[in-house]
Amino acid sequence: MIGQCALCEREADLTFHHLIPRTLHSNKWFKKNFTREAMREGIDVCRECHVAIHRFISHKDLGRNFHSRDLLLAHPGVASHVKWVRGKRVRNAGRRR
Ligand SMILES: [Zn+2]
Ligand SMILES: [Zn+2]
Repeated sequence: MIGQCALCEREADLTFHHLIPRTLHSNKWFKKNFTREAMREGIDVCRECHVAIHRFISHKDLGRNFHSRDLLLAHPGVASHVKWVRGKRVRNAGRRR
């Protein structure tokens, strides 16, 4: 799906990022603190931003501390990635030329 990345705002082939990673959905603490609806929420991001999110932040940390777009953008590693990637051309943007 082509659209605007929620982080770098470039037009790109998007992937869905669960704000609460699926591996945590059966975890007690998350079950207690988030509704099933909240756990289904996510943002559409380009591949490069998605890789960056998971490179900088562990699943547990994502679920506990970075479960929104604004929180992710406030992470220093993600913020510097976004700043850097904004100036780059999109790679693997579907089959468009
Ligand atoms: Zn992006
Ligand atoms: Zn993800």
